[in-house]
Amino acid sequence: MDHTNAPTAERGPEAAADGEAMMRLAEELFPICRSITGDGVRQTLAIIGRQIPIAVSEVPSGTPVFDWTVPREWNIRGAYIARLDGTRVVDFADSNLHILQYSHPMDRVVSIDELGQHLHSLPDKPDWIPHRTAYFADTWGFCLSHRQRQALTDASYRVVIDSTLADGHLTYGECVIPGTSEESVLISCHVCHPSLANDNVAGMVVATMLARHVQARRPRYTYRFVFVPSTIGSITWLARNEDKASLVRHGLVLSCLGDAGGMTYKQSRRGGAAIDRIAAHVLRHDGTPHRIAPFIPFGYDERQYCSPGFDLPVGSLLRTPNGQYPEYHTSADDLSLLRGESLAHSLDVLRRIVDVIEGDATYRSLNPKGEPQLGRRGLYAKTGGHRAVGLDQMALLWVLNLADGRHSLFDTAERAGMPFAAIRAAADALAEVRLLERAS
Ligand code: ZN
Repeated sequence: MDHTNAPTAERGPEAAADGEAMMRLAEELFPICRSITGDGVRQTLAIIGRQIPIAVSEVPSGTPVFDWTVPREWNIRGAYIARLDGTRVVDFADSNLHILQYSHPMDRVVSIDELGQHLHSLPDKPDWIPHRTAYFADTWGFCLSHRQRQALTDASYRVVIDSTLADGHLTYGECVIPGTSEESVLISCHVCHPSLANDNVAGMVVATMLARHVQARRPRYTYRFVFVPSTIGSITWLARNEDKASLVRHGLVLSCLGDAGGMTYKQSRRGGAAIDRIAAHVLRHDGTPHRIAPFIPFGYDERQYCSPGFDLPVGSLLRTPNGQYPEYHTSADDLSLLRGESLAHSLDVLRRIVDVIEGDATYRSLNPKGEPQLGRRGLYAKTGGHRAVGLDQMALLWVLNLADGRHSLFDTAERAGMPFAAIRAAADALAEVRLLERAS
């Protein structure tokens, strides 16, 4: 079967260039120490803002957002654990994962017993540094490899944390691409992880490239690309944009899109929303291994978008999901886990989802009594040449048969078991020879 949405591998040089561009952006974003607030988020949005237009919002600490309150802003300049002779044994300068996020400032000599209560390591992965946070607890801590931890044998150590935890702002970014309709598509990704590649940087770079793609095509829907700190950020966005949320017709949360694993689509809370059907359709016709997972109220910001007071049609697109790859939330989730071809393939799947969202329509046949004579109109396969434009004879027959003003092209693609692009191309060809008119 012949269709226009060629798999990534067949797009060759174009996909390789996409992958290369996303890897370069990932390399730029990876080193930044992000958290749910602070300058790391601002630097991240500034870098993304060079690729796409981003409106940055600053929401003051203490602002109530539904059941939550925007927290104090946290910034960190340095932190270390040193022997009493001054030798640093754990240093934030080596990895920004070393600091427990939201650690309050301190400079004090502590006993090994007290220090031990503030250390986080992974005994079963002794060379990896875990990523840990304490956003809403007034505490401090360090994350380190288990080997580093085992080497801490002195009676006491000096602990220095040069951080600021003070009233400030929560920062988020939004790239709005206006369509001809106010009805909108929400694409959301989190921007709050420090140097972690697949869980965070990959989602940001794919969202950025998808925004560039949508911007170039002058969409029908209005697209809202939301770059927010996890949980508190999406709750803040929802609290400030209830009117906009009610216009969301399709949505996706993006994360973990750069590893070598196959695609995963996690359904919206509704399960049968248009986005759930569309994502499953695109993945089914993609020809690569994939998994459709049911909604659970855990994961990323879909938990907020799919809370019962909103119940938005928002699913999640990932490759290997959070928590299901060993490097997740550790220093091993670094740039070596990302593959240009995986990022390019994730982007391609998203483009095809956008193709369906943008290209779906309902038609009525202008010759509904018996089949129209396709040969006379240059659309019969024997006349040749159509394969080049991606026309499929069965697609023409299905579109004509279901062009009753009630079945959309997407319904037709699903019923025919054919990729949407083939059905869309057939409808375009039939409309061109005035066999179809647009019903809605
Ligand atoms: Zn995470």
